[in-house]
Amino acid sequence: MRILGLLSLFILTASCGFEVEKTSGLDVTYVESSSGTPINLKMGVIDRSSCEQEAKSRVKIFAGSRYRTPRFLLDDSLFSSIYMGGSQKLFDSNIGLRSSRTFNTNGTLFSPCGGMDYSLEDTLNSAAASSLYSFKNLFKQRDLLPMGLPLVSLKVGVSVKMVKEVSKSGKLLRQESFMVNNAFYRATKKEIVFLPQGKNVRGEIPFSKVPMWEIPFIGAHEYAHHIFSHLVPNYINDRTRQKVTKLCFDNNSAHSNEFYKNEKGKRKVELSSIFTALNEGFADLFARYITDSKVGLQGISCFEKSRDVESDTFFNGTKKILHSQVVNVFLSTDKKRRVNCLQQADFQDPHLIGAIIANTFYSLFEKSNLEKKEKLDTLYRFLKKLNLDYFKLKTMNLNDALESIVYMGIEEIDLSVNLKHSDKCAFVSMHYPALHRYYSCKK
Ligand SMILES: [Zn+2]
Repeated sequence: MRILGLLSLFILTASCGFEVEKTSGLDVTYVESSSGTPINLKMGVIDRSSCEQEAKSRVKIFAGSRYRTPRFLLDDSLFSSIYMGGSQKLFDSNIGLRSSRTFNTNGTLFSPCGGMDYSLEDTLNSAAASSLYSFKNLFKQRDLLPMGLPLVSLKVGVSVKMVKEVSKSGKLLRQESFMVNNAFYRATKKEIVFLPQGKNVRGEIPFSKVPMWEIPFIGAHEYAHHIFSHLVPNYINDRTRQKVTKLCFDNNSAHSNEFYKNEKGKRKVELSSIFTALNEGFADLFARYITDSKVGLQGISCFEKSRDVESDTFFNGTKKILHSQVVNVFLSTDKKRRVNCLQQADFQDPHLIGAIIANTFYSLFEKSNLEKKEKLDTLYRFLKKLNLDYFKLKTMNLNDALESIVYMGIEEIDLSVNLKHSDKCAFVSMHYPALHRYYSCKK
């Protein structure tokens, strides 16, 4: 191995945000201070003799600006397993045979205890119980899910260490960090992972110090990625490597960007970038429809508006509109400097393009009297069609592919909403003025 003799090793301590590549199937949902020092929770001791199978349990959730402690029947039947704790090491290397690997250890199996008050303590058991609140409405109404959806594994409080190695000018550069304050779905393993809470590099706990498992929207959002993978397998199977995922949108990530400055000057933008955006938008829509409207994202930083499908603007006030400038930035291979979400919307972040698409679809659904189930079934039909068209879309240029995909969604929803042609033209030109096939009806 010619490289090894030359190597000198630099271990850089964790810093805010670095790029992850080749993490096939990994979808990191919420990106703010996602690396730092994890806060490890105790498992918690449960007196099983007092558990009653049919009794409701009390959990703690963050219901938009304040905490609530609702009681509900803990149901684990959507999941193949629920684990607490455990660890994963995501190893990403561009050096010959070392390539990318993941090492996992499962934690402890969670078994619901009916009648227990989980809201009294911050333990891994309580975290797992709180996370189940996201799925409360699905337990009662299974027909909100597409047919044949497989079970998924739920993992709460997993210690995830990322190790990135690059060979540069004969030197091995290595960066390690723990992932915190985030959640992701991994398609290859059909698992939803809640990371531990943690302190970022500034010693702060973000998101108003609310752990992700106490925000019902987030579990629902991750579950939607599981549905998307099931309905759009052509995209999942075709995706050999995850596009660059920034784990942080703080301004102080300059030093970590410096680390990779000359490694790759360009973004790789391809059809899967568009599907990633759509996947995120679908996940926000699904989460909005299956959680109670009272438990949104209020008080959770920029997400309060940026990821609320009902909001026509991002947190900084920019309107959610796909005009040509936004599309150009999204599809550009030139990296834009990342900015703070409080000041500017970053249109190279697929979540934000997804947020515009989600707001468009949501607004169109609002023109109908459809029930939740009908809305979700409409979206499922659209995703199945998209799956069939996947390889045809792959031959198109990206601008046309984005237009076709959004247009297909609008048409599918309009089959149920049934707008007058002129109203549809007005709607499209308002939400997606860059959609060329509608230029003619703007006059
Ligand atoms: Zn997501």
